[in-house]
Amino acid sequence: MIHKQKYERPSIQKVSAGLMNKFATRTEYLPVTHLEGAPVKRIVEEYGSPVFVLSERKIRDRYREVYQAFATRYPKVQFAWSYKTNYLNAVCRIYHQEGAWAEVVSGFEYEKALANGVPGEQIIFNGPDKSEAELEKAVEERSLIHIDHLDELYVLKEVCDRLDQNARVAIRVNMDTGVYPQWDRFGFNYENGQAWDAINKIMASPRLQMVGLHAHIGTFMLAPSAYGAAARKLIDLFLGIKRKYHHRLTYIDLGGGLPSANNLKGAYLSGADLVPPIDDYAETIASAFLNSDIPAGELPLLILENGRTLVDEAGYLLGTVLANKRLANGKRATILDFGVNLLFTSFWYNHRISPAQEFSGYTEEMELFGPLCMNIDVVRESVTLPLMKRGDQVVAHLVGAYNMSQWMQFITLRPNIVLIDERGRLHLIRRGETLEYINSQEAVPEHLQAIPTLQEEMHLTE
Ligand SMILES: *Cc1c(COP(=O)(O)O)cnc(C)c1O
Repeated sequence: MIHKQKYERPSIQKVSAGLMNKFATRTEYLPVTHLEGAPVKRIVEEYGSPVFVLSERKIRDRYREVYQAFATRYPKVQFAWSYKTNYLNAVCRIYHQEGAWAEVVSGFEYEKALANGVPGEQIIFNGPDKSEAELEKAVEERSLIHIDHLDELYVLKEVCDRLDQNARVAIRVNMDTGVYPQWDRFGFNYENGQAWDAINKIMASPRLQMVGLHAHIGTFMLAPSAYGAAARKLIDLFLGIKRKYHHRLTYIDLGGGLPSANNLKGAYLSGADLVPPIDDYAETIASAFLNSDIPAGELPLLILENGRTLVDEAGYLLGTVLANKRLANGKRATILDFGVNLLFTSFWYNHRISPAQEFSGYTEEMELFGPLCMNIDVVRESVTLPLMKRGDQVVAHLVGAYNMSQWMQFITLRPNIVLIDERGRLHLIRRGETLEYINSQEAVPEHLQAIPTLQEEMHLTE
């Protein structure tokens, strides 16, 4: 069948190619028509557009790959899934099936983890905001409470006294790892002695059982050496506690922060070329432990709380082209039905966007906008893509981390989320929001119930 070619008004334009990388500007060469065997068009027909899609196989494969990288180098490794990275219950349960504990940073996440069947002792409770009621629950459930500040330490002591129970605790430590800006707003500082001050206070409190040490040094960390530095500083504290108190901690938790293969904005290289292999991180961390003064028989459990690096690649966002237009400078603009409301991470990443159907050889540099009435709603500032027309579909890649927890409900409703299982079957794992769902949370005071109709209003003013 011969399709009529679309007429494109000729225009002269300045080439503003955006940031070059060493491969010049990239073009998307191949359409992505299927995800794990499921046609994109069919997913959109069944579940609407936009729609998030998660691949169970990719989640499991990546988990095993990263776990193996550490487990082959160090004898005792435990992963704890970072809930805030993606706390859809179906996703969390895949990680728990794979053997991950839960790492939570709020009471809400804590309850989610319990409801997902995670035993209390396998929940790591992080973050600066733990209410007394939440601490009580965590003490009763024997969870691992990572103390963030002295105020929390004092409240926790009171909670334990009141309950007449002991708490299993660690402190979060921040330190100079050679990567700046330093994340020093969480936990106790290593260099200035705050960490030791907190340790001494805990060791002097019979109700607080010190079981571990924790650091989470940043996110999308491109330097494996930073983890080596963090590990050595925590090991120094570990050995110091052993010397001073003859007390052996059971674990050292190095947090998360390993990068995914996403393309960081402003980076010269693409994510695939920029990001060090996971093996480099595992090697650096394992060496720091094995080459330390800790005797082989006393090596602590190594806990990692990875989020982004595990789930990013398993997530896709499917969407539809709403319109094309020319900007004042002649540059082509394509408007999509998803924007920064759903793809929050497009503030940091140049997400790869692929057309979901065959296209002609003609490509053009364009800007991709979302549907929101805000100027900052830009999905890609500059990308070279084949021309797409209204109704065509696109696939955004590496969107599994943070978008489904940081998304915002601004002027529209959050869409369906679908899981493709390992046999290629589609499952709806979060229903798209409805007007009723949003309205069910609202209340209109009595005096605002009646709205005069236009006629009544005219009558009043007569
Ligand atoms: C967010 C967070 C993580 C996960 O971070 P990623 O960069 O997604 O790996 C782990 N631990 C703590 C304490 C966190 O706040």
